[in-house]
Amino acid sequence: MNVEPTKADNLVLRRKVHIETWGCQMNVADSERMLSLLEANNYELTASGPEAADLILLNTCHIREKARHKVLSRLGVLDRIKSKKPGLKIAVTGCVAQADGKKLIELAPQIDVLIGPGKIDELPRLLEEREQTGVSAVATGFDRHKDEHGDRGAEHSTISDEPMIHIPSISGKPEVNRFVNIIQGCNNFCTFCVVPFTRGREISRPIPEIVKEVEYMVSQGAKEITLLGQNVNSYGLDLLGRDDVPADGGPFVELLKAVSDLPGVDRVRFTTSNPHDFTKPLAELFSSHPKLGRYIHLPVQAGHDRTLERMKRKVTVEEYMQRIKWLRDAVPGIAISTDLIVGFPGETEEEFEGTLRLIEAVRFSFIYSFKYSPRKGTAATRFLDQIPEDIKERRLAALNQLQDKITLELALADVGSVKHVLFVFNSKKEPGVWIGKTPEFRVVRVHSSADLAGKTLPVKIMGGNKTALVGELVH
Ligand code: SF4
Repeated sequence: MNVEPTKADNLVLRRKVHIETWGCQMNVADSERMLSLLEANNYELTASGPEAADLILLNTCHIREKARHKVLSRLGVLDRIKSKKPGLKIAVTGCVAQADGKKLIELAPQIDVLIGPGKIDELPRLLEEREQTGVSAVATGFDRHKDEHGDRGAEHSTISDEPMIHIPSISGKPEVNRFVNIIQGCNNFCTFCVVPFTRGREISRPIPEIVKEVEYMVSQGAKEITLLGQNVNSYGLDLLGRDDVPADGGPFVELLKAVSDLPGVDRVRFTTSNPHDFTKPLAELFSSHPKLGRYIHLPVQAGHDRTLERMKRKVTVEEYMQRIKWLRDAVPGIAISTDLIVGFPGETEEEFEGTLRLIEAVRFSFIYSFKYSPRKGTAATRFLDQIPEDIKERRLAALNQLQDKITLELALADVGSVKHVLFVFNSKKEPGVWIGKTPEFRVVRVHSSADLAGKTLPVKIMGGNKTALVGELVH
């Protein structure tokens, strides 16, 4: 698919694609990959909204409740545009497409192409199929037989054997931070999580392909690279044909070294880590490779062993705290964030208090907190002792109150210090205000009339609140 346009191609009017991406950063990276495929097939991104498009692509997310309802409601709006513009195609991709499959087309026949996340490389072929047959084209499911040579196994894919590395940004402009999917799927089956059903089993991309993609992004202005996967710590185990991470940290440590050694890359981040697969060599890499910064997101989900066992997280509180110690021994003061679920089926007051104790023990820089909600097909939906909504609400409020206090204390502790801030963009609402991130992943706002995009500059922190710090450039 990595085809350079010829002069003849340039004379042909390019078709317009409008892309709407919902959900996580992995979906952003998938949208960029699909845009790259489309660009090689004579499409270009339009910034003029869905009305200007020949193809509308909805890349959907299934993580929140009523995901299908939201997609159907958006499709209803887009159908009004389609009724006035014959020839307009609508493609639905992402996790809702995978979870609902053909059922979604029965509910919304205006869908021309439906693709699950494991089949996005087939987008051009499916558009062609739709054109020729006049019938909605569908590809869901996952290829199990990808081998160590990077064969994605798409049976009738129109893509070439060359890995696709020229990935444009979804905004259509150079971006300071870019996202790269390194591993698809998850083998863990935590009892609350729908990901293994919507994204399939783990399939890693080869290191040379990832490195080339990052090099291209850097040539387009990227400075910060975020490596993505549902479980990045188990990256490459499928390529090695083993289930556990080797004692030296394995392929993920190797990949991090390769990416952070690339010239032009200023910062490397990764998400999401599973504590079960988190190794000491990975923690130690933070001290030997400063481009990894002083921040990590390490989701624990709960602070009591009984809850963790029912969640099937394969880690105890003690083991989680051991990983925190590895990190803080390697980089004193490293900022750590996490995900927490309250009201998981059967969660007692004592178990919930364990989560509060964990927050106090770790002093997370921030958390993503959720009330448990059942996801169709997951094991926890069948657990008997579901927690009433009012108890979930109360626990969530208590959790957030405690964390907000810690977040503010940690942020204010930065006041008076000088931080090296990577500036990412300027605020649209407040002209002259630049937004950047410290190595600890804290947001910093700075007034400047200069163009700071992509620059890492020393900033004196003058104040702030729990969401952002305010600073001045140090001259
Ligand atoms: S490790 Fe993460 S993605 Fe995988 S099942 Fe558990 S929560 Fe879901």
